[in-house]
Amino acid sequence: MFDLLNEWRGQIHLLLHVLVPLMVALIFFRHGGGRSGGHSEKCNSNKRVSEADETRQKISKVRSLHVVNEQPKKFFNAVSSTQVAFTIMLLTMLVDIDHLLATPIYQADRCSIGFHPLHTEWPILIYAVLCAFPKTRLIGLGLVIHMLLDAGDCMWMRGTWAIDVF
Ligand SMILES: [Zn+2]
Repeated sequence: MFDLLNEWRGQIHLLLHVLVPLMVALIFFRHGGGRSGGHSEKCNSNKRVSEADETRQKISKVRSLHVVNEQPKKFFNAVSSTQVAFTIMLLTMLVDIDHLLATPIYQADRCSIGFHPLHTEWPILIYAVLCAFPKTRLIGLGLVIHMLLDAGDCMWMRGTWAIDVF
C-alpha cells in the first residue's frame, strides 16, 4: 500500500495542488460576490427602519446578532465567489515558474522549499502578508497553500519540511 503511494507521490502532489484550493474555495468562498451585495442592501434598509422609534430596539438586536454571525466569515468573504476564488488560487501555481531557473527544470525527488527562489523564506513571508489584505488575499492564500503542499511533499520524501535554509 505504502509502496504504491510512494510510486504515485508526484501525481498525488499535483492533484492536491488542484483539490486543496478547490476545497478552500468551496468551503470559505461560498457567500461572496452578488450575494454579499444583496446582504449589505438588507443591512441598509434595516438601518433606515431602525430609526423608527417603535422598532428601534428590535432591529438593533437583530443587527448585533447579524454582526456576530458575519465576523468569522469576514476574513474569507472579502473577495468573491467560489469560481473566482478557485481560479485565482489555481493561477498562483505559476509561482513554479522559478523551476525554469534550475537545472534540470524538473527533478522528481527535489525539495522545492528552500531551493527555488520563489520558494524561499522571504517570498513565503510576503505570501503570508498578502493574506492580510482583502485585495490580495486570494493570491496570498493560494501561494501559502502551494508552499504548504510543497513542504508536505518535501516531508514525505526526505522527512524534512525544507532544504537546510530554515
Ligand atoms: Zn512549487
